[in-house]
Amino acid sequence: MRLNHLNPHFIIALMLIPICLMACSAEHSASFPKGGKMLLPISGTSNSGVDYRLSTGEFTITGGATPVSISASDYLNQTTAYIDLEAGDYSIGLADGWILERLDGSNWVPVTANLTSPNPVPFTIAANQIAPVVFVFSTDGQNIPVGNGTLALSIDVVEQDSDAGVVFDCNLPPVGADGQPKPSGVATGISVLDWAGYQGAVTYTLDDANSSQIENWAALAALNVPMTFFLQTGKAEASHPVWQEALALGHELGNHTQNHGSPSESEIDLATAFIENTFGISPLTFAIPNGDTGYLLLLPQRFFLARGIGAGNILPNGNNDPFNLPSYIPPTNAPTSQLNSLIDAARWAGAWQVLLVHGFTGGTDGAYAPIDLNAFIGNVAYAKATGDMWIDTFSKVGAYWLGQKLIADSTPAVTGNSQTWTWELPDNFPSNQCLRISVTGGAVSQNGQTVAWDSHGYYQISLDEGSLTLAQ
Ligand SMILES: [Zn+2]
Repeated sequence: MRLNHLNPHFIIALMLIPICLMACSAEHSASFPKGGKMLLPISGTSNSGVDYRLSTGEFTITGGATPVSISASDYLNQTTAYIDLEAGDYSIGLADGWILERLDGSNWVPVTANLTSPNPVPFTIAANQIAPVVFVFSTDGQNIPVGNGTLALSIDVVEQDSDAGVVFDCNLPPVGADGQPKPSGVATGISVLDWAGYQGAVTYTLDDANSSQIENWAALAALNVPMTFFLQTGKAEASHPVWQEALALGHELGNHTQNHGSPSESEIDLATAFIENTFGISPLTFAIPNGDTGYLLLLPQRFFLARGIGAGNILPNGNNDPFNLPSYIPPTNAPTSQLNSLIDAARWAGAWQVLLVHGFTGGTDGAYAPIDLNAFIGNVAYAKATGDMWIDTFSKVGAYWLGQKLIADSTPAVTGNSQTWTWELPDNFPSNQCLRISVTGGAVSQNGQTVAWDSHGYYQISLDEGSLTLAQ
């Protein structure tokens, strides 16, 4: 029974809401110092830290005899404002068109922000109580919500600034639209994005250091997609300067043995030594000559990944042998359309397709199954034009594929409201590899370091860390 006849009035106080903006690094302290407060919608009270305010915002409280309107702009120069309401059930909503501002020096500057909490919000006014109502905004940073139980109406700002945690730069390609708010729901678990957030993946591998690859190097480089060149290092062509240039441009140089011979340790190790001495890097991956599975026992000690020749593509969390991954060899003079069908299939399946090309028509050293250069160029253009296929080197995509499997094979340890996944990298696994994960809420950290939310819609975590914690 409502006690309207007693005409009690209760208060929604629009008050200073202290909040702490955490994890702002020292170099960014000019605009994002530690500590801070939220003004809703009032300005004027000093405190160390960042001030935010709603400079424009129309709140409407419904549920009473007549709706009550509150304009944030009416309170810009007040420290506290009160709205009287009778006991009862209400709802307060914020209309579109609001503007959140941050105090930069002496200037209030509008910031790009999203309202991430429910809107409108139901609340109840009862005797001697003030209903807690929180509006949560996300902007370029991170928040710590603060509530002492007496705040009637508050707003939080979730900053998404990169300083709000560690950022791992693992040279994964950009994906997704910017400006996506950090999930603020209940932390239920993690989901690794397949193929770094792309629909599928494509790797172009070119074997044998054939002359037609060198002759057409300018055209290959102009495609501007990272490829993997598996060098047969006993050939004179393996010393050509194009390979050093390829490395500098972000392509991968892999081991394809010294002489393309029968399985032996020296076949592998001589090629590795050549690549190390000539190009200054240790090859991470191997391509098995003629698909000879006699090599398989020699590989795990030396590489983290190897390519075989059986056709097929690779699914996320697929159980392929990482030392004998399938690849497709187009037949001699295969047209672009035939190559494109591989892209279509991988895209449809959400899979990784590895293509193996030995050379192009016109070479002088008898490349196996050469194809027309323009057919190859046309196919790369086709793959790029999809916009949602990740084109990268064998090691880069393979590291992601293996990393995702490590997480999938890890059962999280639960402590209180946190879950921790742990893993151990395989031998010879490259350093500085990342995964992109999505969550429904909570905070992501690795070994005690908060991981920054990436406003493209994911957390990018480092596999080097060996563990990952999600806490509410
Ligand atoms: Zn070969």
